[in-house]
Amino acid sequence: EQGQGIVDRALTAALRDVEANEAELGRLDAVAADGDHGLGMTRGMRAAVAAARRDEASPSSALLAAGTAFADAAGGASGALYGVLLAETGAGLQGRSGDEVSTDVLADAVDGAVTAFVELGKAEPGEKTMLDAIEPFRLALREQAAAGADVPQAWQKAAQVAVSAAEATADLLPAKGRAARLAERSKGHPDPGATSFALLVTAVGQVLG
Ligand code: ADP
Ligand code: MG
Ligand code: MG
Repeated sequence: EQGQGIVDRALTAALRDVEANEAELGRLDAVAADGDHGLGMTRGMRAAVAAARRDEASPSSALLAAGTAFADAAGGASGALYGVLLAETGAGLQGRSGDEVSTDVLADAVDGAVTAFVELGKAEPGEKTMLDAIEPFRLALREQAAAGADVPQAWQKAAQVAVSAAEATADLLPAKGRAARLAERSKGHPDPGATSFALLVTAVGQVLG
């Protein structure tokens, strides 16, 4: 609808940064788990970008297609969880064109996606998972919406919050996912999923601005 769609541009930027950080995400996942997070993220994001490009009728349908493709291609715990986040954000934007996505609408869509994410993964805050970056991001976006920030400003501020929150997971002990069994080993290292989430939303913020 508007040349290369916003979802396509956002996911393409995210893919670029995931590819650049594939080895680092794998290294973080190898500290206490199976080391495949970097590989899963590049596989998932490549499939998500391809799917979004095939289905650009609206931001909603592009995100729904991207989420399904991500879950299928990435595999693993984070594959299904990121798939739900993308697809449910899309579901929350149903019936909106790119121009109609205000900060309030976006914050509502992210709220719905995080609710679905928690229903699937059953993680609680503080268990050293992606949620420990996602929940602060969600809250910051909501706060920015209430303060009247536009979408780029709100998203970029929330992305900064996610980066700090992901770094802070280094102090936590994993209680969910594979890393929970070797929890002590992960002390001092950030959670791989929280790290990839911060990286993704930062890349998207650069495209929105
Ligand atoms: P797998 O653990 O299946 O190999 P990945 O390595 O791709 O999958 O992803 C690991 C990441 O998934 C963890 O760092 C954590 O952030 C996230 N994760 C795992 N289980 C859960 C869960 N139940 N809820 C939320 N996030 C989770
Ligand atoms: Mg893994
Ligand atoms: Mg695995």
